[in-house]
Amino acid sequence: MQRYLIKPGQKVNLAKIDTNDSSAFSGDKKSAKGELKKLNKKLEALQELLFAEHKQRVLIVLQAMDTGGKDGVIRHVFEGVNPQGVRVASFKVPTPIELDHDYLWRVHKHTPGRGEIVVFNRSHYEDVLVVRVHELVPETVWSKRYEHINQFERLLADEGTTILKFYLHIDLDEQKERLKARLDDASKHWKFNPDDLKERKLWKNYMQAYEDAISRTSTEYAPWYVVPANRKWYRNLIIASIMVATLEKLNMQYPKITFDPKKIVIE
Ligand code: ADP
Repeated sequence: MQRYLIKPGQKVNLAKIDTNDSSAFSGDKKSAKGELKKLNKKLEALQELLFAEHKQRVLIVLQAMDTGGKDGVIRHVFEGVNPQGVRVASFKVPTPIELDHDYLWRVHKHTPGRGEIVVFNRSHYEDVLVVRVHELVPETVWSKRYEHINQFERLLADEGTTILKFYLHIDLDEQKERLKARLDDASKHWKFNPDDLKERKLWKNYMQAYEDAISRTSTEYAPWYVVPANRKWYRNLIIASIMVATLEKLNMQYPKITFDPKKIVIE
């Protein structure tokens, strides 16, 4: 799984990363689904342990272009996991009150508590992506944010939060197919937003912004993974594998009990 990890200081060139890659898995789509089910079960058990131990916190950041598959990841990777232990925080266009504060204000309060997994569906990275591409603040302002973000994530990590960040890497052709599919199927019309076409025209600018963001903020304590995401089954498998491997390394323990279960009599 390390093949998709961006090492600290590594300069990312997204055009050189194959969106169709599925080389880490030798089986086909069907066997991948079987593999995913096994990972879902492991994740379910690990989440329960995380919750029982009540020590660590886990933050998953999902970023992608429109139709990139963030919702699909949330649905498929966390299938079977107790909904009480996982929270999704979705970051939309900031409200007037949010805009009255610094850009991390709205983010910090959604970070995970002990025993919790929080998935950021979009995140503080929007403040160096859409904000940069649309020049919503001047460069003198957004250019300082990479450093803030590194410091913010360091604070979270130092205080016991495990952070994983995934960029779901699709290409323009794949986005076209997915947008078309939304138009062709009446039950998917609600997902189609004509404004997505405006963003699509800015693809190159977004890629530049993503490359800078990922290159400048992939750290030991909050690594980025660029996940080939044209094949949905592969994307899910990669993310689930990285999550399971990371949680397994946390070496979590069930809390010590203060009673002897054999001596307890329930009348
Ligand atoms: P999604 O595409 O994540 O399913 P929406 O269609 O509601 O959800 O899109 C959310 C929108 O909010 C995106 O266009 C995103 O760029 C925008 N957004 C998120 N954070 C910010 C921000 N900090 N500043 C401006 N726009 C933002």
